[in-house]
Amino acid sequence: MTQLLLDTGPSPFGWHRYETFLRCPQLYAYSHKGPRHDDSESGRALALGSMVHVGLAHYYARMREEQNGNDPDVLYRPEEAVTALAAKKDGPAWHEFAGLARDIVRGYLTRYAAERPRILHVEEVFSLEFDGGAPLTMRVDLVWEAKDGRVYFVDHKTTGRITTSHPRWYAMSGQFLAYRWAGRLAFGERFGGVVCNLIQTDAKDLTFARPQLAPVPGQLRKFPAAIAEAWRRIQEIEARNLAVSEWPAHPSEHTCWTRYGACPMYSRCEWATPPDDQG
Ligand code: SF4
Repeated sequence: MTQLLLDTGPSPFGWHRYETFLRCPQLYAYSHKGPRHDDSESGRALALGSMVHVGLAHYYARMREEQNGNDPDVLYRPEEAVTALAAKKDGPAWHEFAGLARDIVRGYLTRYAAERPRILHVEEVFSLEFDGGAPLTMRVDLVWEAKDGRVYFVDHKTTGRITTSHPRWYAMSGQFLAYRWAGRLAFGERFGGVVCNLIQTDAKDLTFARPQLAPVPGQLRKFPAAIAEAWRRIQEIEARNLAVSEWPAHPSEHTCWTRYGACPMYSRCEWATPPDDQG
């Protein structure tokens, strides 16, 4: 029997695109309008995070199939899904971290073995449209109905180290603000909120936590305006038909070199030449 490998990749026009634009329009242009290249560090984090995601997606999707009286074996088992994704990507980081990803998924399944929420959606795309036709799509990791009868959007987050800052840090993230808006619109009063499903990926200290996110009502209220404004600015710059290397830059120590390291386009900006000199 051919088994399904779920798509856990980005949605068509997600928060990350806006986030990239708000960080730096030049980075947005290099990322979405020209040829891409990745730095090795983010490539490694991306590979591990993606493989853990795909393992958990199959765990919950199989649970949903069982709950609906269907055959869960139409989907890979969680650890098999990790192996299948590594084989499909076939890159050094994917092969190097597949074993760790399987260990993390195994650890997660043990930690939450007794938990049986009702699974409503796994890796499905939700779409919003704000003022001015600003699109915002999101592939939600998991939507479940908990024992309290309320519906929650669950987002799996892998991190090297879980800290006490995570609940406030993610509360302000546009990704979680978007989930809160989409959840309210889709499920109304039944919507219970967002679960930040933290997974510490240290092989010697696998840890799992679901901290309560800070409520941030002020930022939640202003989120649609922030998206509409970013969309308007993207359209405005697009209309200028600039060369990719000539989009406005936001150079600063908070954009070009962040806590995650150098911007992936650092070297391109460092040596960027005017379009007339680009041969
Ligand atoms: S290096 Fe700085 S200016 Fe260049 S794309 Fe990255 S963030 Fe923008």
